[in-house]
Amino acid sequence: MLKPSLLILAGDGIGPEVMEQVKRVISWFEERRGLAFDVSEALLGGSSFDVHGTPLTDDVMQQADQADAVLLGAVGGPAYDDLDFSVKPERGLLRLRKEMDLYANLRPAQCFDALADHSTLKREIVAGLDILIVRELTSGVYFGEPRGIIEDNEGGRIGINTQRYTSGEIQRVARSAFELARRRNNRVCSMDKANVMESGVLWREEVDAIHAREYPDVELSHMYADNGAMQLVRNPRQFDVIVTDNLFGDILSDCAAMLTGSLGMLPSASLGAATESGRPKALYEPVHGSAPDIAGQGLANPSACLLSFAMALRYSFDQGQEAERLEQAVEAVLAKGIRTRDLFQGADNEMHSSTEGMGDAVIAALEQSL
Ligand code: NAD
Repeated sequence: MLKPSLLILAGDGIGPEVMEQVKRVISWFEERRGLAFDVSEALLGGSSFDVHGTPLTDDVMQQADQADAVLLGAVGGPAYDDLDFSVKPERGLLRLRKEMDLYANLRPAQCFDALADHSTLKREIVAGLDILIVRELTSGVYFGEPRGIIEDNEGGRIGINTQRYTSGEIQRVARSAFELARRRNNRVCSMDKANVMESGVLWREEVDAIHAREYPDVELSHMYADNGAMQLVRNPRQFDVIVTDNLFGDILSDCAAMLTGSLGMLPSASLGAATESGRPKALYEPVHGSAPDIAGQGLANPSACLLSFAMALRYSFDQGQEAERLEQAVEAVLAKGIRTRDLFQGADNEMHSSTEGMGDAVIAALEQSL
């Protein structure tokens, strides 16, 4: 059988360091669980600029477009701050997302019991939390025309942005959310501002129509986005999958992320249309950046990148049980008190774990799971 392809773009700063641990875990799954991937690696961001003078070559763009899944570390760093905007490391990432047309951004907010005290909310509100926010990523007010700043007739200025959604754009992200819910707890809450915005009225009508026609087995509810923000901090565990537009999703997903405590723990995925293989185009990446302040020191927490690979197992490779195995291994390591410095609360003379030490511990926990 043809092995599914996985393109690794480790990027800059701590990207290659955390990816090193993911590669060890991929090898573990190959050797111990018989999951074989056709893995290739390429340059992205500053590391690509250093060699090719561009943050993303056409060749790598094509490889990404053809891969069954792309796994990314992080890009950027102070060495590239003064570059022209067109060749900055982040431009490579933006081109990747745009040309792969990744319209559904998945941001899970999962609170491992061992980290419940790191949240700003009380343990009893967040312990065991496991929700998934699906944010529309390629349309809405960040892209709508007309936009700009114009002069008015009285010597003042007017800032304009346009919230605009087509029914097709709403339908495809709603489908993603319903599909994802079927692999989880089968519940979707759609958030909009249908009370004050026509685009919200259309959003709600289209989500309802897709639900009735294609996903009647999934439980659907609607909530105004402002209430949604309130409910996320009041009782976040009431949700399973939340689907919302680009602007509300931007805010709600950051709000949900903070429920879980640390940037070093947060994975994400961006999915596009299904390809011939039936798999969606997909890019998996930690939410954090290249963390130049700690790069090269063995201090980076590899969990976000490991959990991004777990998402790839679940959403690109249909290996939900193996994804759970990896998530539980990370949780088991944290429960033992093994942590990188970002999560470490011990006394100064106690030792926190290194990036590699965390990788060792996750692999040991995976072994124990057999
Ligand atoms: P950052 O996420 O890189 O770091 C913010 C803080 O969190 C830092 O103190 C860092 O040490 C810490 N941190 C982040 N990830 C960590 C991890 N895995 N383990 C332990 N600590 C971690 O954000 P920033 O400092 O604003 O940006 C640094 C560079 O990264 C910039 O060039 C920025 O453009 C880029 N960036 C890239 C991405 C991406 O590749 N997707 C995302 C955000 C920022």
